[in-house]
Amino acid sequence: MIPYGRQEITQADIDAVVDVLGSDFLTQGPAVPNFENAIAKRVGARFGVAVNSATSALHIACLALRLGAGDLLWTTPITFVASANCARYCGADVDFVDIDPATYNIDVEALALKLNDAQKKGELPKILVVVHLCGQPCDLDAIHALSGKYGFRVIEDASHAIGASYRNEPVGNCRYSDITVFSFHPVKIITTGEGGMAMTNDPELASRMELFRSHGITRDAGLMTHTPDGPWYYQQIDLGFNYRMTDIQAALGLTQLTRLDAYVARRKAIAVRYDSSLNALPVQTPLQVAEAASAWHLYVIRLRLDEITRSREAVVQTLRSAGIGVNVHYIPVHTQPYYRSLGFQAGDFPKAERYYSEAISLPLYATMSDAQQDAVVDALNKALS
Ligand SMILES: *Cc1c(COP(=O)(O)O)cnc(C)c1O
Repeated sequence: MIPYGRQEITQADIDAVVDVLGSDFLTQGPAVPNFENAIAKRVGARFGVAVNSATSALHIACLALRLGAGDLLWTTPITFVASANCARYCGADVDFVDIDPATYNIDVEALALKLNDAQKKGELPKILVVVHLCGQPCDLDAIHALSGKYGFRVIEDASHAIGASYRNEPVGNCRYSDITVFSFHPVKIITTGEGGMAMTNDPELASRMELFRSHGITRDAGLMTHTPDGPWYYQQIDLGFNYRMTDIQAALGLTQLTRLDAYVARRKAIAVRYDSSLNALPVQTPLQVAEAASAWHLYVIRLRLDEITRSREAVVQTLRSAGIGVNVHYIPVHTQPYYRSLGFQAGDFPKAERYYSEAISLPLYATMSDAQQDAVVDALNKALS
């Protein structure tokens, strides 16, 4: 089976992890801050807060921005459920903005219209979570301008997009947002097994996220409400969680990070090769905007269903039976039973639903060989003929 994504683990990765296992600290040691600093330096952000998943990073990002009951968070329906769930963890409500049918990212024109409408009703969101789908950055400049006009905060869910750039600057520098979140799950660009990181340039947001990562406990006398009893003293000043990353994971992340540029370059080469191999087929290949460079987490094709006799489901079944591990990203979040129970229904976001009915993610990962890619193209040719 050729999977749709997979990690690469080298001897250097294994050695780094084994070193930590023989060291004094398996967690809360030096590897975590080293990893945070290395990612912050790579993406041009002031602070990085490492956690055990991007899901946790999204949660503490919302908490740091003081999202709570009665507040609204907006996001795109074409994303992993975590981009919306973070609002629900905070007791806030979720709404969605339909996608741009060309890029599959949030539609900035639809966003502007919805904001204008929401302002009249007094129902503006407190936070907008934008998702750089497949690794291609959203229209960040326009989103940033809208956040200034309407006063909402922006979180970039860059789970797909470490190594991507927007206007020649790395995604993660938070020039257009308050916080940017990365995922280090094994199918993503670089991995720590499980893991995530929240980037920000704001020292107060960084400090609040650190607090929520670890029980709401601080050892910083400056944050305490009264004088420490002694050197053992810590104070819980808010309600946090244990979302910490281990040093084992951070050490793996550090060695993985040294290969980030090579991974993104290889992913791009595979994408370019797909573009040219598929151009005679009844499929829409991914459009790339001029002002961004994708990290190519996913290569999504859209079937031109009016030009073929088979359904998307049948095409996926045929490919999987041929050993090609295609997948679908994503089921529109608002159609999930949990979100239906909150009042959403099929038909609410027609562009997202149309995209979903046609989309297939082809295998794409840094160690994929040309021969494996040829096998994918060959199987797709057969499945569509
Ligand atoms: C993978 C992913 C997440 C969640 O990442 P975890 O590290 O698995 O928690 C969130 N958002 C998007 C868009 C993702 O692809």
